[in-house]
Amino acid sequence: MASYRGHLAFSTILGVGYGAAALYYWQMDWVSALLGAGLTAASGMLPDLDSDSGVPVRALFGGAAVVIPLLMLPRLLSAQLPLEQVLLILASVHFFIRYGAAAIFRKSTVHRGMFHSVPAMLIAGLAVFLLYHHPNDLVRYYLAGGVMLGFLSHLVLDELCSVDIMGAKIKLNQFAGTALKFFSPSWGATAATYLLLAGLAYIAAQEFDGPREQLKQWQQKALNVGSSFGKAKAPIR
Ligand SMILES: [Zn+2]
Repeated sequence: MASYRGHLAFSTILGVGYGAAALYYWQMDWVSALLGAGLTAASGMLPDLDSDSGVPVRALFGGAAVVIPLLMLPRLLSAQLPLEQVLLILASVHFFIRYGAAAIFRKSTVHRGMFHSVPAMLIAGLAVFLLYHHPNDLVRYYLAGGVMLGFLSHLVLDELCSVDIMGAKIKLNQFAGTALKFFSPSWGATAATYLLLAGLAYIAAQEFDGPREQLKQWQQKALNVGSSFGKAKAPIR
C-alpha cells in the first residue's frame, strides 16, 4: 500500500481531519486551516525526499521550492525589508531548494536512513514553526503539528510495509534501518541529525523569551498576592 500514492492518500485523509479540527475545535481562520491540511497531506511524502529517483521526488522538491518561500513571506514582510530584497530572497530560496538542495540530498542521504526517523520528524516541525510567522502562536503550533502528523503517518506506513515510493519492493542498503527509529547504524548521520535538531530547538527556545518574560511577571504577581495574604493574616496571630 505504501507507494507514494498510498502515502499521499493516507496523509490527505489525516490532513482533511486536521483541517476540520482547526475550523471546528480551535476556531481558526479557514486560510490557516487549509494551509495546515495541505501541509499535513504533503508531508506524508516528505520523508521520501531521501529517495534518489522518480517523478514523486522531483515533484516533492518542486513543491517544497514553492511552499517554503511562501511560508517565509510573513516573516520577511514583518522584518520590513524593501520589496526588492524580499523578492530576491524568495527567488534565491526557490532556486536553492529546487536545484541545490535536491543535489545535496541525492549525495548525502541514504534511502530510509536518518531522514526516516523520529528526530527528522521533529526537525521538520521545528523548521516550519521557525519559518512561519503569525501573530497567533496557535497557528504556528498548528502548522508545525500538521507537518509532523503527515511525517509520522509516512513513518508508520513505511514501518508497516516494506514497499518503496514507486511501489516496488526495495533493497535496503547497509545504513537503512526501520522507519520509526531514533538512531541509524551510521553514527555520522545520527550525530548530524541530532546536532541539527538541537540547533533548531535552541533557536526556537530563543523565540520563547517573550512568553518567559510574561511568565516571570505572572509569577511575580502571584508572589505579591501571596505575600499580601500573608500580611493580612499576620495581625490575627
Ligand atoms: Zn519512505
